[in-house]
Amino acid sequence: MFAIITSKELSHRINHSFEKGAVFMKFKLRNGVEIPAIGLGTWKVPNDREVVDAVATALEIGYRHIDTAAAYGNEEGVGKGIRLSGIPREEIFVTTKLWNTDQGYESTEKAFYASLERLGLDYVDLYLIHWPKPLSAESWRKMEELYEAGKIRAIGVSNFHQHHLEDLFKTCKIKPMVNQIELHPRLQQNKLKEYCDQQGIVVTAWSPFMQGQVFQIEELKQLSQKIGKPISAIVSRWLIQRGIVSIPKSVKPERIRENFSVFDFELSPEDMALIASLDRNYRTGADPDNFNF
Ligand code: NDP
Repeated sequence: MFAIITSKELSHRINHSFEKGAVFMKFKLRNGVEIPAIGLGTWKVPNDREVVDAVATALEIGYRHIDTAAAYGNEEGVGKGIRLSGIPREEIFVTTKLWNTDQGYESTEKAFYASLERLGLDYVDLYLIHWPKPLSAESWRKMEELYEAGKIRAIGVSNFHQHHLEDLFKTCKIKPMVNQIELHPRLQQNKLKEYCDQQGIVVTAWSPFMQGQVFQIEELKQLSQKIGKPISAIVSRWLIQRGIVSIPKSVKPERIRENFSVFDFELSPEDMALIASLDRNYRTGADPDNFNF
């Protein structure tokens, strides 16, 4: 049983009628495409047995969403993992991203088809501009065409501040459906999340576990003890209850499983408030305004 929840409906649904026993949840994008609320991150996972096994294991456990990028160098292994799992392609939501040096109208098309070839797929579910760059408007124009041609089910951006989105809005025909940004208990991005909500853009949280640092936060250790759930599940649950997609990365089967165990409990308003109090505007990665790759 799936609970399909849009960002706007979410607080209502969570407060009043969260479906007990739901196996997993999805959010609805503006064009009706559904994005599973939990995905497997694959940054820094080598393009060998490691990524193949991580992807196949995640899909066996129940994940239906895999996040990769041309820049991770592991699209080939991700594709192999998908095929190894035996799960039908149409059940899986695959995201990949356009790298900075490939931005531009013609080069976006070339980069996109190269990604498809490495993945061994004939479409992707979500294609993102990885970082905002001066050529993003041109890249976006090509992405709109690929979307309209049915090669991509949804298009979006990553690491876009509000001002980057506003710039894109000046020239785009189709607004981004997703913004994938760094977001976790120490960087809650409330203003940008609110702006994305207003624009009908679903937010995905990258580095939801702060690349491992989240497990050191004392208040989360105490909350974990109090409610008897691992910090990993608490953090993803907190994101999902805010209408945010979580894409934690692990290559360890027991952690991949633990990171998916977020659908059999709810955080109370008090628990949510406690996590809200942990915001420190602290980044583990680059600020998109000062990223020069
Ligand atoms: P995460 O915040 O997901 O943290 C991953 C780290 O936490 C790894 O060291 C992992 O180790 C460890 N870990 C995972 N689960 C557990 C657990 N249950 N208990 C203890 N440790 C755990 O980091 P990422 O930076 O990888 O972010 C997630 C994904 O977001 C990326 O993989 C990528 O797909 C995406 N991303 C996108 C970016 C963008 O610019 N759009 C930028 C950065 C990331 P181990 O593997 O050994 O378990």
